[in-house]
Amino acid sequence: CGIIGYYGTNGNAVKVILDGLIKLEYRGYDSAGISYLSNSNELKIDKSIGSIDNLIRKVDKHIKSNLGLGHTRWATHGEVNTDNCHPHNVGSITLVHNGVIENYLEIKKHLQNKGYQFNSTTDTEVSCALIDSLYNDTKDIVEALYQATNVLIGSFAFGIIVRGIKKLYAMKRNSPLVINHNNNEGFIASDTSVLAPHTDSYILLEDNDIAEIDPIITIFHHKKQVNRISRPIINTDEI
Ligand code: GLU
Repeated sequence: CGIIGYYGTNGNAVKVILDGLIKLEYRGYDSAGISYLSNSNELKIDKSIGSIDNLIRKVDKHIKSNLGLGHTRWATHGEVNTDNCHPHNVGSITLVHNGVIENYLEIKKHLQNKGYQFNSTTDTEVSCALIDSLYNDTKDIVEALYQATNVLIGSFAFGIIVRGIKKLYAMKRNSPLVINHNNNEGFIASDTSVLAPHTDSYILLEDNDIAEIDPIITIFHHKKQVNRISRPIINTDEI
């Protein structure tokens, strides 16, 4: 159970994400997956159950991509199979998730009534469809993510890519998530080991923060309205 997100300009997304997934291996997992935006702006998804090596054998490390997500899954809702592997894609939204959504069955029923169909039995695909539905309603991704934090009960660290937007999004509650950027790359990850080769510091997101990374980081925190806020930058050697 670990997530990674990458935004860059030099085509390194696939390599950085696969190397990062190996660093997250110690957290335990039963399957792994990656999604990346190809040169032709197509979002590709590859998933494998079992070892990260199974995924690495499927995905060419040399593929050039500037935007992507990676995931190691520790199944909590739905058995270990390829359909249940992350990343999940519904409509405009592609997402990886670490955590547990407690009210997912209720949300799923509501979305099925709106016409959504589901390919997996995870709480994660339901979160993905919820954000897609809110994005369709609001046409504003930050507002949609904010509204999702008010509907979702449970824990989440999400890495999110939105069709047509060349930015990376992240949000969290009760699951760990660190982010940072250097001159031309932005990163999100479940722990600092993934960021360490690329940045000498990190930002710890607080619960219900929403981060937009392109690769400059904008953090939104919502009480009644959307507020831009800043969080302290922590040097990695202070740990
Ligand atoms: N609850 C999600 C699932 O079962 C995420 C599990 C995780 O944190 O890896 O797919």
